[in-house]
Amino acid sequence: MSPPVDSVPSDERLPERADVVIVGGGIIGVSAAYYLARKGHSVVVVEKGRIAGEQSSRNWGWVRQQGRALPEMPLAMASTDLWGKLDGELGEETGFRRTGMMVVTRDPAEVANWEDMLEQKRAFQTQGRILNAAELRTMLPGTTDQWVAGLYSPIDGVAEPSKAAPAIARGARRLGAVIVQNCAVRGWETSAGAVSAVVTERGTIRTDAVLCAGGAWTSMLLRHQGISLPQAGVFASVLRTQAAPQVSEGTGGVGSPGFSFRRRLDGGYSVAMRGTGRVDITPQGIRYAADFLPLLIKRGRGLSIRVGRSFFEGPESLRKWRTDGISPFEVTRVLDPVPDKKLIAKTMGQFQAAFPAMKGVGIAETWGGLIDSMPDAVPVISAIDKAPGCYVATGFSGHGFGLGPAGGRLAADLVTGDVPIVDPTPFRHGRFFDGTRHPATVWV
Ligand SMILES: Cc1cc2nc3c(=O)[nH]c(=O)nc-3n(C[C@H](O)[C@H](O)[C@H](O)COP(=O)(O)OP(=O)(O)OC[C@H]3O[C@@H](n4cnc5c(N)ncnc54)[C@H](O)[C@@H]3O)c2cc1C
Repeated sequence: MSPPVDSVPSDERLPERADVVIVGGGIIGVSAAYYLARKGHSVVVVEKGRIAGEQSSRNWGWVRQQGRALPEMPLAMASTDLWGKLDGELGEETGFRRTGMMVVTRDPAEVANWEDMLEQKRAFQTQGRILNAAELRTMLPGTTDQWVAGLYSPIDGVAEPSKAAPAIARGARRLGAVIVQNCAVRGWETSAGAVSAVVTERGTIRTDAVLCAGGAWTSMLLRHQGISLPQAGVFASVLRTQAAPQVSEGTGGVGSPGFSFRRRLDGGYSVAMRGTGRVDITPQGIRYAADFLPLLIKRGRGLSIRVGRSFFEGPESLRKWRTDGISPFEVTRVLDPVPDKKLIAKTMGQFQAAFPAMKGVGIAETWGGLIDSMPDAVPVISAIDKAPGCYVATGFSGHGFGLGPAGGRLAADLVTGDVPIVDPTPFRHGRFFDGTRHPATVWV
């Protein structure tokens, strides 16, 4: 079942020409559109389903610098700054609050990892610190759990996935961006090797620049154009509670071994299990298996692997199509994975056991989501060297909601050739082919 998401008016007519055509109306695509429109460029977002219908409305809503890998830190810091300005610029509510965020543990050995991470991040002045058990009891007065330590980041926060990308999309539209929903991009045409037009199910838009921000579908679309991108999806499940009492002070959410939660604007909680997920064996997965092996080994026990319907359908099948026929993007307008009922029940049970005030609070809704990941868990925000006019912003590996505004802004800077908001080198597409990919980091 899809979680609720605010609506965005759809433009029905495709323009004949645009400076930039963006594939995908998740938080990355709409943020790129917003910053391109602010720079005065004509831009069209083409979304096969609805704005934020996939990952961007299904995530936990955490906006973090803590836990981000070192190559992502400047982007994460820039994104926090942009989040802080968005509500004022848009005149709308994204739900962003700099609430502080924490993770907790019962395992003293984990504290050594955190200390190592804080040391490595010292230059970024993240203000993260380790809390002892007594401090935790003050900040989490409602818990009966015996956590021994916490990692607290006062500069991190939360935003509301049902609101944020739609608000940014509406803001882009007010600045002149065209947003076309229920319309899939099937591919693009080239002239002397460079992008010349984007082909959609409703017609063609002439352009010199296409930005692929298709989330979990990006690798499939690029493959159609002869471009390789190692990308894999991890299925995750989330639940939302009914309105419930506040159980924490000075933090918008908590990540624990048995559950993670974020307090929502509607007074309920979004709750899920950290570090768990399911990987389906798919043709695309087999193609890139060697690329993902180190990350799979690091993620370890939390991941289950199975063969399922994703082998034949969805973003990782090896479907082929022609631009004058129906593409797989039209077959699945909104990817709506079935949540894992057993995992949901276990997660809620552990949340209630740790916070007795949650006993009797009902589950209002559950949903699944497919997290698009890169082998080094760092996104690709990059021009494609061998395809002039083609840009990619994808593979945010479970971090793209928080990184979204700056990820979109960096993509916009690359397309226009402006001074980039941060150094784009860590996000190069070419790193997977020239031996400069990052070591996979899984901190917290
Ligand atoms: C359960 C879960 C929890 C998460 N928790 C967090 C969190 O707490 N914090 C955080 O920072 N991140 C989190 N993430 C990750 C975050 O949600 C994503 O990284 C982010 O939303 C990615 O945004 P996107 O725009 O790249 O992709 P998406 O939001 O998936 O959007 C891509 C869009 O492209 C469209 N599309 C694809 N192909 C085509 C095509 N050919 N034509 C037209 N449209 C197309 C799709 O329909 C889709 O709407 C979580 C993700 C999940 C699933």
